[in-house]
Amino acid sequence: MLHEGSRVEALTRSGYTLQGINLPGVGDTYVDPRMASALNDWMASAADQGVDLRFTSAFRINGVAVVGAVYTPVGDTSLHNAGLAVDIRYDRLTDIPGGLTADQQREIIRSTAISSGLSWGGSFGDRVHFFIDPYGQAGSNRLSLIQTQQQAYRFLNK
Ligand SMILES: [Zn+2]
Repeated sequence: MLHEGSRVEALTRSGYTLQGINLPGVGDTYVDPRMASALNDWMASAADQGVDLRFTSAFRINGVAVVGAVYTPVGDTSLHNAGLAVDIRYDRLTDIPGGLTADQQREIIRSTAISSGLSWGGSFGDRVHFFIDPYGQAGSNRLSLIQTQQQAYRFLNK
């Protein structure tokens, strides 16, 4: 049986642990530490250009039904379940009177996401979805990463 300390160390050595983050719209959630730093970058640089990001989904727990997602994930294979994806308010943005149009806001959102190290799900039709994919595709590596992150989540919430 592992001691708690060694379990944390094992999770940390894997390089894919979770850390707490507060995201406007979602509140307290967890993401991968690299995702956390990308998100903090993204929120700051979008805000610098007049766009306050509003999140609608972040970490997802395996086996818990997802409500209102553009893409209904099959099984628990989404990068959300690994703390490596978020959804934001995007298509429903409106023009700011005397300020940025909705299209200008979306342009800022996409360009600051890319410069913060995130990829955009719009390339496969999931326009609200921004992510980091360490493997470039779904597969066994992603599934084992999701298992590790779900284990980290259970550890942090027991
Ligand atoms: Zn998503």
